[in-house]
Amino acid sequence: MNTNNKSNMSGLTVRGHLRVLLEQDWYTLRELSQEVRVSEKDLLGHLEHLRRSAKAGGAVFEVDAPLCLACGFNFTARNRLQRPGRCPKCRSTRISKGRYRLIV
Ligand SMILES: [Zn+2]
Repeated sequence: MNTNNKSNMSGLTVRGHLRVLLEQDWYTLRELSQEVRVSEKDLLGHLEHLRRSAKAGGAVFEVDAPLCLACGFNFTARNRLQRPGRCPKCRSTRISKGRYRLIV
């Protein structure tokens, strides 16, 4: 296993690699996890950091918020990157995946 902060893309850190990807297109956590070979759990920390540094650098970290597929409840208000476990309104666990991208 790759335990240091380098991704499989030579010379780039995990965050550098994430930035390159997110500047190109929308990605879900799972897609990012597969691209940079970091667990979804660890990705959340990297994404939180990217979101803060994007803000400081004048870029926009966009979140396409998860949506309840049963009742349409939108999770935007939670302002959290982590995928919700279930809908607070109807308790369904059929939640769409959030997607992320970076506008620079
Ligand atoms: Zn719902």
